[in-house]
Amino acid sequence: MAIRETIQVGDPRLKTRNKTVTDFSDPKIKQVIEDLIDTVRSKELLIGLSAPQIGENYKIFITEPRETKFRTGDQVDELRVYINPKIVTYSSEETIIYEGCGSFLNGQLFGPVKRPKEITVEASDQSGNQFQLTCDGILARVIQHEYDHLDGIEFIEKVSDYKKLVNVDFYLKDIKMSKEQNEASVITKKDAVFLS
Ligand SMILES: [Zn+2]
Repeated sequence: MAIRETIQVGDPRLKTRNKTVTDFSDPKIKQVIEDLIDTVRSKELLIGLSAPQIGENYKIFITEPRETKFRTGDQVDELRVYINPKIVTYSSEETIIYEGCGSFLNGQLFGPVKRPKEITVEASDQSGNQFQLTCDGILARVIQHEYDHLDGIEFIEKVSDYKKLVNVDFYLKDIKMSKEQNEASVITKKDAVFLS
């Protein structure tokens, strides 16, 4: 178990092709997942992390929007691990939510990003069991953000209005608890089924 350094934009490992996981019992894969969990839990604002962000080029990410002083019950979800994920459907309805990233100025910069409100993702969990998850709110948002990392895409490339970029202090003061941010972040759906 280890809290790992979150590598920063400009590091070529964020743009390297990520490997498909084939051996779910590989100790290396188990280590990467454990380190992702430890690293996410070490920072209160971090609710998801992808393997390339800790310098491990595998198709793996995790999400865990935890209950904190900034996040209440209807925006909270359990820890989920996604291995070899594929987003298979996107809703036509979109929402704007401010995002930040541990790999961009260490999560000190936030900007509005427009993305589909609801998605369905298929992936394997850490035991190799394939599942399908349909969700919305902040869960669908963090999945799309982390999924982009596996394709070498940073959220900053998708910011919808660069004039609205804010640093973390303004984000916490003006945006995080705003009506718009909160309404778009509420999770009304998280339906998961196993496929195998
Ligand atoms: Zn990120």
